[in-house]
Amino acid sequence: MVEVKTDAALDAMREAGRVVARALAAAQAVADVGVSLRELDDAARAVLTEAGAGSPFLGYRPPFAPTPFPAVICTSVNDAVVHGIPTDYRLRDGDLVSVDCGAELDGWTGDAAISFTVGTPRQADLDLIDATRQALDAGIAAAVAGNRIGDISHAIGQVARDARCGMPADFGGHGIGRRMHEDPHVPNRGRPGRGFPLRPGLTLAIEPMLMSGGKDAYVTAADGWTLRTVDGSRAAHIEHTVAITATGPRVLTLL
Ligand code: MG
Ligand code: MG
Repeated sequence: MVEVKTDAALDAMREAGRVVARALAAAQAVADVGVSLRELDDAARAVLTEAGAGSPFLGYRPPFAPTPFPAVICTSVNDAVVHGIPTDYRLRDGDLVSVDCGAELDGWTGDAAISFTVGTPRQADLDLIDATRQALDAGIAAAVAGNRIGDISHAIGQVARDARCGMPADFGGHGIGRRMHEDPHVPNRGRPGRGFPLRPGLTLAIEPMLMSGGKDAYVTAADGWTLRTVDGSRAAHIEHTVAITATGPRVLTLL
């Protein structure tokens, strides 16, 4: 079931998305060499609390998960792709960090993720983050009325392929609205002109996750949550919540 949102609902989702963007900015602002992942979670949590927003991550337990998620952000470092749990791990010079955050405000949800480096960056990591950003931008550009989900998927997949990056096949974007994960699924690769038709009022979380080693395979860590690259290569993950409107894609998770 896919809900077509009114303009008023999109404005409400924009406010939830703004809280997400502020929480992500707060997490990135405290991230530095020697800072723990838990401190990033604390920074994001303070923003949600201040805004009166709930967390769709905290306590979330999808079918694959052995335990409820214990934090308001995912922190995925280096070879971790997505779903990393904020622990006492202290960031090291040159780490690549992806932070994913959601917020619920006035009954509506936002979901976004950023990737960045800490300390002195490796050029390869900056290139990976850039490719992931380009994949997201291409996906957003395809999120227009008259297109189909497959056009978004294809646009993302082409950028990943050109960058010689792999992507975990079982994970991708999703519909979003009153809840974080709604229909339709938004795969990170696909065939143009196929899949669910895009129309104004549809809201999607678009989220390429690129693995620099080029393989699509991944492994699940012992915590049952963290997805890691199978070859130890580094990964990046960037996400926005986007609305399809009559005048083009509207990104809801900007500051
Ligand atoms: Mg997310
Ligand atoms: Mg998402």
